[in-house]
Amino acid sequence: MTTLIDGKKIARQIRARVAEQTAQITTSEAVPGLATVLVGDDAASAVYVAAKRRAIREAGMQDIHRRLPSSATHSDVARVLDELAARSDVTGILLQLPLPDHLDATALIDRIPAGKDVDGLTTTSAGLLARGALGLRPCTPAGIMELLDAEGVPLQGAHAVVVGHSALVGRPMARMLLERDATVTVAHKHTRHLTAVTRAADILVVAAGVPGLIGAEHVKPGAVVVDVGIHRTPTDLIGDVRAEELSGHAGLLTPVPGGVGPMTIAMLLANTLQAAQATQHST
Ligand code: NAD
Repeated sequence: MTTLIDGKKIARQIRARVAEQTAQITTSEAVPGLATVLVGDDAASAVYVAAKRRAIREAGMQDIHRRLPSSATHSDVARVLDELAARSDVTGILLQLPLPDHLDATALIDRIPAGKDVDGLTTTSAGLLARGALGLRPCTPAGIMELLDAEGVPLQGAHAVVVGHSALVGRPMARMLLERDATVTVAHKHTRHLTAVTRAADILVVAAGVPGLIGAEHVKPGAVVVDVGIHRTPTDLIGDVRAEELSGHAGLLTPVPGGVGPMTIAMLLANTLQAAQATQHST
């Protein structure tokens, strides 16, 4: 029997908890305030930012937004980020990716102070994670850890295989699993014998961005499979995993949609709260 992990339900619970804790923060200076920065006209990015801003308001947090044209220069974006970084009512800053090609995303992200880095993508946040030190973690892998914990999946000593080594998902995912004492293997597009590698996994996280890459032959019977991929077909949303093949084969499986996706925004809210609480404790 394969159990589907209900990411929508778990995300709802996290969002309710965050809203409740936000309401308990009384001093106005420490009310969580998330600033979203959107550069250019990418339609999908505009939709994602609108969804994040709605979630922020629903959680009782302050929604601060800056929109810049696609012609914005590095200095224009840097100036906005620096202005937001200096404001005490802005407790979190999110620079929506991807940026227009002429901008250096890494350099701009690194202008966000680590304490306000609610996407967990600055070099400092990545360094804290690599060291196993406290810090803000990237939302998608943090959400996957919440899903695994909510389902009571044992991590210590488990063999976790992560397919994909991007800075956004694969790398931080591997480090977060390692932080919890899993034995971690990272596979990527140059990995030889992918099937043999993934088949050894007790927990398989797939973030390759290749529709239907993983099928039954890649999965040990009873394994936990987390599908991070999202691809729009003319009729549907599908993942990196051929879910229909895993029914009755995997132990636990995250569906697409309704698995990992809803967790990303929930963790953004959780990070924004965490950042505000840290500010409150340091003042
Ligand atoms: P990316 O393109 O930056 O990285 C893809 C990774 O997969 C690379 O490390 C690459 O080496 C590896 N890869 C590519 N082809 C492979 C193959 N054939 N075999 C093994 N490894 C292979 O992508 P990303 O930003 O990490 O995102 C991955 C997927 O997750 C995308 O579909 C993206 O849309 C999705 N995503 C979903 C969420 C969410 O909230 N659900 C969040 C972020 C990303």
